[in-house]
Amino acid sequence: MVLSEFALIERYFRKAGAMRADVRLGVGDDAALLECAAGTELVAAIDTLVEGVHFPQRSPPAAIGHRALAVNLSDLAAMGARPAWALLALTLPRLDETWLEEFTAGFADLARSHDVALVGGDTTAGPLCVSVQVLGHVAKSSALLRSGGQPGDLVFVSGTPGDAAAGLAIEQSRLSAPEEASGYLRKRFLYPTPRLALGNGLRGYASACIDISDGLLGDAGKLARASGCAVELQMRHLPISEQLLSAVGEERARELALTGGDDYELCFTVPAARVESLRHNLPPERWNYCHIGELKPGHGAAVTNAGNVIEFSHSGYDHFSR
Ligand code: ADP
Ligand code: MG
Repeated sequence: MVLSEFALIERYFRKAGAMRADVRLGVGDDAALLECAAGTELVAAIDTLVEGVHFPQRSPPAAIGHRALAVNLSDLAAMGARPAWALLALTLPRLDETWLEEFTAGFADLARSHDVALVGGDTTAGPLCVSVQVLGHVAKSSALLRSGGQPGDLVFVSGTPGDAAAGLAIEQSRLSAPEEASGYLRKRFLYPTPRLALGNGLRGYASACIDISDGLLGDAGKLARASGCAVELQMRHLPISEQLLSAVGEERARELALTGGDDYELCFTVPAARVESLRHNLPPERWNYCHIGELKPGHGAAVTNAGNVIEFSHSGYDHFSR
C-alpha cells in the first residue's frame, strides 16, 4: 500500500463519526476506552457485509459505508437501545483513495446523525469485506427482546417492507421500473433507515421486537418462535408503497412485502391493553407503522386473506440455501 496504514487511519478514520464526551480514548491506541453510563446495560451487535454476497459488486462506496453501519444500528433499534460507539474492520482489495473517501463519507454521515463515535477498527488487505460492530446502551432491564410476546398481542410493522428487495433487483438489472419508483426503491436498498427513535419509543409498549433483515414473514416467525407463539399476518393489512406497487403490481408487491429482505424496518408486538396508549403517544401516521396481525397460541407463521390461510414456498432469505 502506498499510503502507510498509519496515514490511512489518520486521514479517513480518526474523525469518521461523532465526537462524544464518553470516549476517553478513541482511534489511535491499542484499544478504545469508553465510559458506560450508570444504570444502563451495554448493548453490542456486529454484522459483516461481503461484496457479491450482501451487496452487488461495484455498489456506490457511500452506500456500502452507510449500509454497513445502518444494519447494525437497526439491531440496536430492535432492542430499544441507543447507539454510542462503533468499530470498523475493513478488508480492502486495493488502496483506492476516491473509494475510501466516499465510503467514509457514507459511514460518517449516518454515524454523526445518530451521535455515534468511531472508536477503533482494523484495516487489512483482501477481498472487499466490511465488518461493523456497534455498542450502545439501554436502561437496565428495559431492552426489547424477541421473546416477550404473548398470544393475543397485536403485531405491527414500520415502513413499507418489500421496497429494498425490489431495489436490489433493480440494482442487479433483474427488474425495471418507472424512473421515479426505481430511484426510490434503489435508495431503500442502498441507504436503509435504522428506526432508532421508534425502537427507543417502543420501550414500555412493545412486548417483543425484531428488525427485518431476512423478510417480514420469516423474521415475524423468529419473533413468534422466541415468544413461544404462532404468528398470523393479514395479507390485506400489509403496508405497500405506491412505488413498489407501480414497479411490480399488487400480487408480487405483497409477496415481496412478506419475503423480501434488507428492509431494516421493525416488527413488534403490543399487548391489546397497551395499544390505545401506544397509538396516543406514538401516533402511527407520524411514526409510520401499522397493524398487520396477531400472535396466537401454537407455533409457525401464517398469512391469511379473508380468513383463508395462504401457502408460501419460502419465508425469508437463507444465506446458505443457494
Ligand atoms: P493494532 O496493530 O494495535 O491492532 P492498528 O495499527 O491496527 O493497531 O490500528 C491502530 C489504531 O487505528 C487502533 O486504535 C485501531 O482501532 C484504529 N483503526 C485501524 N483501522 C481502523 C478502521 N478501519 N476504522 C477505525 N479505526 C481503525
Ligand atoms: Mg491491527
